[in-house]
Amino acid sequence: MDESVLIVGSLAYDTVTSPAGSVENELGGSATYGGLAAAFHSRISNGGSVGIVGVVGDDFLLEDRELLKNTELDLSGLEVVQGETFRWTGSYHGSMGEAETHETHLNVFEHFEPKVPENWKSPTITFCANLHPLIQKNVLDQSPPSRLSMLDSMNLWIQIAKDELISAMKKVDLVIINDGEVRMLADDDNLIRATHFVREKIGSTYLVVKKGEHGVLALHPDGVISIPAFPTSKIVDPTGCGDTFAGTLASYLAKGAGPIQKHELRQALEAATVTASFTLESFGTKSLLDLTEEKFNERLDEFHTIIHN
Ligand code: AMP
Repeated sequence: MDESVLIVGSLAYDTVTSPAGSVENELGGSATYGGLAAAFHSRISNGGSVGIVGVVGDDFLLEDRELLKNTELDLSGLEVVQGETFRWTGSYHGSMGEAETHETHLNVFEHFEPKVPENWKSPTITFCANLHPLIQKNVLDQSPPSRLSMLDSMNLWIQIAKDELISAMKKVDLVIINDGEVRMLADDDNLIRATHFVREKIGSTYLVVKKGEHGVLALHPDGVISIPAFPTSKIVDPTGCGDTFAGTLASYLAKGAGPIQKHELRQALEAATVTASFTLESFGTKSLLDLTEEKFNERLDEFHTIIHN
């Protein structure tokens, strides 16, 4: 198989409130956003396939399945079982940098035992999107990637499954984490000290720290990369920004071979930053689904002008 990205994560119905309004039972989930972003980049670059491993309940709408399929996502690893699809309720306030979680109903994810389809046992990239770390580890065991393993998480798992999370982080090459989570894991308010502490502790080759409106900081064996956020004031709903960012990163890094070069990581981080800035602009997956190659390239050019001139 050519370059391929396997994503394990949640498929969800989200209820979200932000200063711009609210939505109920909107299609979301870490694998949904990550998958849509990776599939978009794969499509516009004539890249390889993107597959999802996850589970939904029998309440998952046919139209949502079709929507995912139409973006050319491979859903052969998506199980449908009796019960309710994962549900998350959250809200955003102030600078909207971080979601406040009100409810998490794991539902069908509670007893989920991932089964990776036979043709997805050796992808180029295995990306564990936000999910219980034991499920992430299980998929990593079933699908060791030929190039890079990646993992994203959230504060919930640091609070209730810290040991399992650290053990999953130790298994991957690239960890994506946000600034609040780094501080929480290191128990240190100084971001740089906390970042180096976490890198030491988990021993990952690459560490990507998302700082919301302040951009991203990444540790590469050849040095530090620091990139600002795309400056936008049109913030409707940040849900899925992190997953969009990570899905884009996965798609970009699936393109090369051998160890990830520093310039390659920087280029992927720039594309990830720009793609995530679209997800902010509407509730749910709408702006990601409406994204075109022209719109993306135009904003990427604008971003390059901002950061390089
Ligand atoms: P983010 O990119 O961090 O904004 O991710 C938001 C998505 O994560 C939402 O669509 C939620 O459905 C999903 N989500 C929230 N909590 C969890 C959780 N505990 N496990 C897996 N996915 C979650």
